Amino acid sequence: MREKIIAGNWKMNLSIPEGVKLVEDIEHYLAKRPLQTKVIVAPSFTHLYSINQLNCLHVKLSAQNCHESKKGAFTGEISPLILQDLGVQYVILGHSERRELFGESDALIRAKIEQCLSMKLKPIICCGESLEERRKNKHFEVVKEQLNTALYGLQEKSLKECMIAYEPVWAIGTGETASPEQAQEMHAYIRRFLGSICHYNETISILYGGSCKPSNAQAIFSQKDVDGGLIGGASLNSEDFIELIHLRELM
Ligand code: PEP
Repeated sequence: MREKIIAGNWKMNLSIPEGVKLVEDIEHYLAKRPLQTKVIVAPSFTHLYSINQLNCLHVKLSAQNCHESKKGAFTGEISPLILQDLGVQYVILGHSERRELFGESDALIRAKIEQCLSMKLKPIICCGESLEERRKNKHFEVVKEQLNTALYGLQEKSLKECMIAYEPVWAIGTGETASPEQAQEMHAYIRRFLGSICHYNETISILYGGSCKPSNAQAIFSQKDVDGGLIGGASLNSEDFIELIHLRELM
């Protein structure tokens, strides 16, 4: 069975005390009820130490990025080795903001994926098309190219540790969401693609991301191939995030 997942990408938001309080609130909620849904948060690197000190049993830690090398002369970068020390289990890779604003290529993202897998960190691999690419009906082609470069040729034992997040760029932080049908169509396509490169296509979780919030999540989470959400804005306050966890659990 595929895991149900709710992951929060905090981006460059929240002070350290605010982040700690948010995780405490989520952990408190999860401690009171056993849920199947796995809950992950991805704070800034600077917050990881304090949040790891909470010794949460339910909330898992992700990083928002990492360097493709284990260590070395890379001023300002963060190594997967250091992330391990901080209790991190997941790393978001290939987010569209990293691709667009920091020039990350498919090849660089592949190198990061391989390094994370070698360090037993699970990659949450983002893919998704721009508005222009969707208008030109190129969305399937674009996502296939991104995922092919990210994953083709990896060993099955590595592939089964990966998670995919489909995040149409036009829906990220814009308030515009993919329709449930658009999400399902792309998730089913991704699952078929995964089936062409490994035997784990029915067990790899595929998350939807892009302006997902309590008011639209139910329709998206009820789609057959949507296993959960990668949540930006709505992961920054405990009410919305807990509501999303609750909705994912119910669907
Ligand atoms: C994201 O950046 O991964 C994201 C999904 O953001 P938002 O929910 O704010 O659109």
